[in-house]
Amino acid sequence: MTKVQGNPTVCKGYCPLPNSATKSIILSMSQPFKLFRLQQIDSQLDRLQARLGEIETILNDDSAQRQADSEHDATQAELNSKLKALKHAEDEVRQQRLKIEQTEATLYGGKVRNPKELQDMQNEIAALKRYLSVLEDRQLEAMMAVEASEETEQAASKHLEATLRAGSEQRQDLEAERAGLQNEVAHATSERQATISSIEAADLNLYEQLRRQRKGLAVAKVSDRYCSACGATLSASLLHAVRSSTQLNRCDVCGRILYSG
Ligand SMILES: [Zn+2]
Repeated sequence: MTKVQGNPTVCKGYCPLPNSATKSIILSMSQPFKLFRLQQIDSQLDRLQARLGEIETILNDDSAQRQADSEHDATQAELNSKLKALKHAEDEVRQQRLKIEQTEATLYGGKVRNPKELQDMQNEIAALKRYLSVLEDRQLEAMMAVEASEETEQAASKHLEATLRAGSEQRQDLEAERAGLQNEVAHATSERQATISSIEAADLNLYEQLRRQRKGLAVAKVSDRYCSACGATLSASLLHAVRSSTQLNRCDVCGRILYSG
């Protein structure tokens, strides 16, 4: 156990500071408070930075818009394909009608007089008309398919519009929130600068080291007689030291700097 300069009794029941930080144990009364305040500021900065990070992630995520866009593109492609099919069906009906007209013109033109030939032509016209009916049914089906595709395309278009509008509103909200958070960061950063200017370098090093090692929390408040960070019960002597001494005391379980509040 490392001897604690100036006050060996404080060493009882908790982990000593590393050699590099022993100097910092002898501090004025306000040091634990300053470190606690610094911890509050840093925790706030951590929260602000985390939220700013979330905002950046959301702002950079355009997957909802891209998906709606791609769905809309697919419905447009489907509609184009149905329109093409309809045009083909219409052409076929038109050609079939033309064929019937031509055959009827020949039939009634008076040039063909042979009864067998006339009968054959009548049979042919009847067959052409039967097939025309099939082609007209196909045309009707193609028209209904176009109508269905148009409805789907319109729904996808509305969905795309709504997604873009919602995205734009969300972007405005997030940008406003980000501006507010950036102000808070600037404010907290300047307060941090003012706070650390009155903290000794060794204490600051210890604090930063604990922040890195203890998930950002270097200073723990003593709640009742427990370390609020790890829940360890403080020994009577440590509790007394935290409440009365002017030096830094650390939790003997998690090693964090203790602040009595
Ligand atoms: Zn602890």
